[in-house]
Amino acid sequence: MRGMKPEAGESPAGVYRRHLESGVLGFQRCAGCGAAIFYPRVICPFCGRPDPTWETSSGHGVVYATTAVYRREGDPYNVVLVDLEEGFRIMSRVEAAPAEDVEVGARVTLRVDHEGDDLIPVFVLRDEGR
Ligand SMILES: [Zn+2]
Repeated sequence: MRGMKPEAGESPAGVYRRHLESGVLGFQRCAGCGAAIFYPRVICPFCGRPDPTWETSSGHGVVYATTAVYRREGDPYNVVLVDLEEGFRIMSRVEAAPAEDVEVGARVTLRVDHEGDDLIPVFVLRDEGR
């Protein structure tokens, strides 16, 4: 889906945040080579064309890699790489599931979490709703 347009002088990070504030994950698409671009940039990292256009992700993805991180206190948490269906990859975590239950190939859905002033894109297992 089409994303938001940058305002005059607005950085890619600013546009990215506005998407998260709307509860969606924004990414960019290069009008030159067609590549999906993430994390947001000023120019396409593949062909160098400036001003990639913004799109919004469906939030549907598949876990490409996962690691359970064990802490001295508390339950382990996971760090995952998720391949979104639009063709880009993001480092994140899967919430609301035991770390050891998150497997490569698991289908996940985006959720935007608030941590203080930060907006963090996380994922939940798709069969758990949302
Ligand atoms: Zn390009």
